[in-house]
Amino acid sequence: METQILIGLEIHVALATKTKMFCSCSTAFGHPANTQVCPVCLALPGSLPVLNRRAVELGLIAALALDAEVYPSMQFERKNYHYPDLPKGYQISQLGAPMAERGRMTFTGDEGQEETVRIRRAHLEEDAGKSLHTAEGTLLDFNRCGVPLVEIVTEPDLHTPGSTRVFLEDLRELLHRTGVSEVRMEEGELRCDVNINLVAPQGGTEISEVKNLGSFRGVERALKYEVARHREAAKRGDRLRHETRHWDEDRGVTVAARTKEESHDYRYFPDPDLPTVTLDRPWVHKIRSSIPERPRDRKLRLEKEYGLSRYDAEVLVGDGDLADFFEEMASRGADPKTAANWVMGDISGYLNAHGVRLGELPVTPTDLVRLLQMIDADQISGKIAKDVWLIMAGEGGSPDEIVQQRGLGQISDDSLLEDLVSEVIAENPDVVGQYLGGKVKAMGFLVGQIMAKTQGKANPQLVNAKLKDALEKIQGRR
Ligand SMILES: [Zn+2]
Repeated sequence: METQILIGLEIHVALATKTKMFCSCSTAFGHPANTQVCPVCLALPGSLPVLNRRAVELGLIAALALDAEVYPSMQFERKNYHYPDLPKGYQISQLGAPMAERGRMTFTGDEGQEETVRIRRAHLEEDAGKSLHTAEGTLLDFNRCGVPLVEIVTEPDLHTPGSTRVFLEDLRELLHRTGVSEVRMEEGELRCDVNINLVAPQGGTEISEVKNLGSFRGVERALKYEVARHREAAKRGDRLRHETRHWDEDRGVTVAARTKEESHDYRYFPDPDLPTVTLDRPWVHKIRSSIPERPRDRKLRLEKEYGLSRYDAEVLVGDGDLADFFEEMASRGADPKTAANWVMGDISGYLNAHGVRLGELPVTPTDLVRLLQMIDADQISGKIAKDVWLIMAGEGGSPDEIVQQRGLGQISDDSLLEDLVSEVIAENPDVVGQYLGGKVKAMGFLVGQIMAKTQGKANPQLVNAKLKDALEKIQGRR
């Protein structure tokens, strides 16, 4: 029997509301300290909270997207503790009657294996303020006080640091795609606490918890460090203390913070200012039916429906806009593989090079389908199509107009091509001689000359055929 690694997560996600959970202050990030506050979020006497309906809606979307069971009602409770950035002296959260429990999320682990993580619960709570420790003393910014969060707690179903990172990346994609959160990591919109427990066959070591990780790379590194630390302790025969630790990014180590509190230490009790919230069934049902297709489901569907590779499906779904554009093209008759190659190649390349989003380009899927049809119909070459695409993306316009106005159409005119063939043969007697002497590759040079004379617009199949004809005639005359 091997030592088993059990990893569980508590993930805090800022909901994409315009205003705070219990007041109408803005949730916008990066504004001057204490400019987004009011008597409610500052906990001034006599102020009372009013629940933000949108926050509940977004929390429900998160719970439903994770297949959790939503309760008919939920209760807000006060989690009591003292900290300078928490002016009320308690955080409004949910313990005994959370919004939802028993969900699940399936994902593809870091080694390609399918894994399912059970979701223990999803509940709503408010964020605290921010303490800034400076040389002059501690400064407080209450702008974040009362920003709505959904906390997602998993069962300890993860087993490696790598899979934990992939799970978080997929979860982030899901929350973003369903509109629950913008999930801007750099603004701290997704933070997590990780629990890790190594269960050795000869008896377990204790759980440790690493708090408040703000990056997936940090999660993976902290977990690797903890696995090694637990293993060392087990080797020595030590039992580790059940403790909370912090991740020191610069030193690459976790450090003990304090012994872990239990929930009873917080003296949770129902908030008397907030009545029990009834989650109306038709409303929940309506929210459930409005949730867009989940990224994982979409990847599997793209593979199946369009015969795309897993890699292609992942790249497309990784940016929902690309997948939307691709599907629009396919529904308008484009060959799926060709459409996927264009979206992931030329289109994606353009977006990266210019730092723009697909929605900002003056190009529709219909325009691109038309461009592909023009290649198929030999109206333009594949090479010219790439130039036309750049004009479409930069200036807009239909491919037909661009090709016509700029004279980019493929030259398939028999007599014109025959004249060019004769011209090139006359200009390159040495090369023609080499070809006739058995050096077949010399023909490539002659084709290149014709393409150069036409700025790449000559129909390559016709050029090849006509050149071959002409050379064979010369051969015959010899
Ligand atoms: Zn406020």
